Amino acid sequence: MCGMDFLSWLEIVGGVCTVEAALEHLTRRELRRLRGEGALRTPQRGWLALADTSSDTTRSLELGGVVTCVSALRDHGLWTPHGEQQLHIRVRRNSHGARVARAEDRDGVVVHRLHERLQEEAPPFGVDSVQTTLAVASGCVSADDLIAAADAALSQGKIQPDALLEVAAELPRPRRRVLERASALSGSGTESMFAALLRHAHIVFVQQPELLPDEFFDFLIGRSLVIEIDSLEWHGSRKQMANDRRRDAALTALGYRVVRFTYEQVMFEREQVLQTVLDLVRRGVHRRALPAATA
Ligand SMILES: [Zn+2]
Repeated sequence: MCGMDFLSWLEIVGGVCTVEAALEHLTRRELRRLRGEGALRTPQRGWLALADTSSDTTRSLELGGVVTCVSALRDHGLWTPHGEQQLHIRVRRNSHGARVARAEDRDGVVVHRLHERLQEEAPPFGVDSVQTTLAVASGCVSADDLIAAADAALSQGKIQPDALLEVAAELPRPRRRVLERASALSGSGTESMFAALLRHAHIVFVQQPELLPDEFFDFLIGRSLVIEIDSLEWHGSRKQMANDRRRDAALTALGYRVVRFTYEQVMFEREQVLQTVLDLVRRGVHRRALPAATA
């Protein structure tokens, strides 16, 4: 990549990158030349920015951090602005220098540090990954906002449920609960979490099998074990309950075994849920012969 190409590339990725990322595209000598020509500047040691770029990212770097939390959620397209105008930056856990102290005093800037059990990253383009962003946001925004953000991230495929679980597991309990709850309440979050649980245990499954004409179920393990996850929205609806009972009866009559878990169980009693599934599998409930006509 020549110098001009590099500058175009840098513009496309947002105008900022680490020196390390830059060196994947050009030599140190070319880098020195571009700096010497004034095309690039150094917003923070180890970082480069296009000389004329001014953004949340360059501001964050100049304040000694990177973009995180709601500012990063906005960047990732996971945040609907509703009055939140502050710049949320993440500084290194152990950085307490003068620059950071100034940032902490500044109006309009919220300074975060990552919880000690999570690994710090140096995001190559100055904006925290979705994973880190949600972890930081879990200690900053309301549960409702976090639910909305986690929902968007899961449904847009910007984070996998496993990764969300991983983040949640490392956080202190109150924040973990919020994040887990966020995933549980979001779209198919509970189902995604259950799928992650099965994958972790190396249990093979099919999601959304059509076991009755035009009727789809949540999970099929083996041939005959059906797992249904009751999502929160269905609670309290008699009509839905009646429909669930009808489906259960129809499947049972065909030789399937139907097991239901509530979203609370999937989110907060994962070990018991997994143990139940493992017990059923051990007893061969998933290998029952079904009548040939329905197979
Ligand atoms: Zn924040």
